[in-house]
Amino acid sequence: MATGEKSVDVAVVGGGAAGFFAAITAAERRPQSVVVVLERSPRFLAKVRISGGGRCNVTHACYDPAELASHYPRGARELRGAFHRWQPRDTVAWFESRGVTLKTEADGRIFPVSDDSATIVDCLLFAARGAGVRLRPREGVREIDLAGDGFRLGLMDGTELRAARVMMAPGSLTASPLAESLAALGHTIEPLAPSLFSLHVSDERIRGLSGISVPAAQVRVVAPKAEPRQGPVLITHEGFSGPAILRLSAWEARRLRELGYRFEISVRWLADRTRESLAEEFHRRRSRSGGQKVKNSPLEGLPRRLWENLCRAAGVGPDDTWARLRREREGALLAELDDGRFAVSGKTMNKEEFVTCGGVRLREVDFRTLQSRVVPGLYFGGECLDLDGITGGFNFQAAWTTGRIAGEAMAADSH
Ligand SMILES: Cc1cc2nc3c(=O)[nH]c(=O)nc-3n(C[C@H](O)[C@H](O)[C@H](O)COP(=O)(O)OP(=O)(O)OC[C@H]3O[C@@H](n4cnc5c(N)ncnc54)[C@H](O)[C@@H]3O)c2cc1C
Repeated sequence: MATGEKSVDVAVVGGGAAGFFAAITAAERRPQSVVVVLERSPRFLAKVRISGGGRCNVTHACYDPAELASHYPRGARELRGAFHRWQPRDTVAWFESRGVTLKTEADGRIFPVSDDSATIVDCLLFAARGAGVRLRPREGVREIDLAGDGFRLGLMDGTELRAARVMMAPGSLTASPLAESLAALGHTIEPLAPSLFSLHVSDERIRGLSGISVPAAQVRVVAPKAEPRQGPVLITHEGFSGPAILRLSAWEARRLRELGYRFEISVRWLADRTRESLAEEFHRRRSRSGGQKVKNSPLEGLPRRLWENLCRAAGVGPDDTWARLRREREGALLAELDDGRFAVSGKTMNKEEFVTCGGVRLREVDFRTLQSRVVPGLYFGGECLDLDGITGGFNFQAAWTTGRIAGEAMAADSH
């Protein structure tokens, strides 16, 4: 049975990062208004709690809005403007002004110094209560429709709530009853697909190499041809993971779903070497260290065991020396290094962070306010929108930014 008020100024649907930021902002900006957060589950901020392996990667140390926006496969254009209003510097200042000290790691990811996501959860809960936000757990919203000059929310326990303004922040719309309501109100839901996953590859060349990482590789989907993605590639028990693979999974999330996660990828193990420079190096080795066994002289940047496997795959014999390496084997080895083809047979979501791509069509939302262009008084924030970032704190930053702007706009829009 739903408890509390039956009519409110602002109803926030979803007690996650975006919902909390919006509710706190709206309530702080306009203390006289009644702001509620309706959360389906018994606990608020569940994803913040488990995020970043329990450490919560709050945001990323990237302070230029245009550069920051480039980390979002979907939503970059819209977020770029929004980041001029609320960006990582603001997020850091917001938490630090509330007693949470943050630290930046070498790769730019920002965490609480406590290395404990509970610090962030507690801060948000404290701020919400302090601002007078009414927190209503176990109150899932089943449907939403127009009522008078506001909204009627149908709750999962069969009761109703009226609200002058509604902020939709329910996270991923996968299997959500709210997708239907939003469509009935005139919104378009862009196709949903998981993003940020590693790839299943079963192949002799990487068998037994689990845990080995290649620092600067390049990977691309072969067909339909896609942009290459660069970074470290990690060999796992199941296949490939690491930043370059997660980037590829994010940028190609929709297409890979369409392919049923069965496709071919090309790996360039040494992203900063062209095929010509590799051929020149082979030539140099032939003339300068011709007596050395090929198998025993890995190229710089390649782990020895991977090199040995690539040599074997190219038909290079255990006793072949550089001077006696047959031309066709040299060609095969060059191909392995520069364009190694692997069959992908599935995916595993990245444990540290994953998101859903797709959601409410961005054109239908005014990013200056995060208000719907279709239904006045309806606002959006976070993952329910068709925006998502790569790993590294970018997804939370999108939630903070959209939540903040929506909260400000709802407070200004009070009547
Ligand atoms: C394991 C994991 C780790 C992650 N780690 C990081 C990280 O370290 N850094 C980072 O930037 N990103 C991380 N992410 C991504 C990040 O968690 C999301 O991008 C972010 O939580 C989105 O915020 P949100 O408020 O839009 O949605 P959510 O955090 O998903 O919150 C939505 C809330 O709405 C509630 N809800 C849903 N439907 C209803 C309904 N019908 N009625 C009422 N309530 C409803 C849900 O229960 C939930 O509490 C991680 C994701 C995962 C899965």
